[in-house]
Amino acid sequence: MNLPEAVVLATNNPKKLAELRRIVEAEGLGVRVLGLGDVERYPEPAETERTFEGNAFLKASAAARETGLVAVADDSGLEVEELNNMPGVRSARWAGPACDDDDNNHLLLAQLDGVPTERRSARFVCALAMVSPAGERKVWHGRMPGHIAETLEGDGGFGYDPLFIPAGLTVTSAELTPEEKDSISHRGIAVRAFVEYLKSLKSEVPA
Ligand code: IMP
Repeated sequence: MNLPEAVVLATNNPKKLAELRRIVEAEGLGVRVLGLGDVERYPEPAETERTFEGNAFLKASAAARETGLVAVADDSGLEVEELNNMPGVRSARWAGPACDDDDNNHLLLAQLDGVPTERRSARFVCALAMVSPAGERKVWHGRMPGHIAETLEGDGGFGYDPLFIPAGLTVTSAELTPEEKDSISHRGIAVRAFVEYLKSLKSEVPA
């Protein structure tokens, strides 16, 4: 595959779009990062797969097919060891179909009520899939280990960030700056691997 002029990130989450833009544009590759708001609307697929990778490919394949652009999509979530690695692919709707982040966080706290720190291990995981219009498929993974706090702290980030203390830190990921979180996060790791791939394409372009 040649270095594309633009890639579309199949997400409606403005924070994910801003994060990918920040990391890709910092490399000066000349690759534009578009979001779903920049392309003609199309019906997005339901996330029906049982794995992060499967759902990421569903979203990226639909975006490549519908836009004719190289498409990337991520699927991510929280795995809590004490809960048999749930909520996993059900992270966004853990407390029910119409729930918000606050509902999910309070349900998780209730489920871990009385569980000591050493049994509160968890990790955020991310699969970032890329599909080209010609059908090339690639996937990168990232993970951020840590544990679940006893109380909500911090107002940065989103989702379970106010409850997640990354390994080696004493604050939650909601207390980190966006740059600090990107530098260790599951999505940051996967996105940087994708950017390395783009860089390898650039170095293949004849001078
Ligand atoms: P999705 O990848 O947009 O489907 O996100 C799945 C869900 O996982 C989100 O709604 C959050 O609940 C959770 N999640 C994924 N990544 C993060 C993160 O970086 N911080 C906090 N929660 C996250």
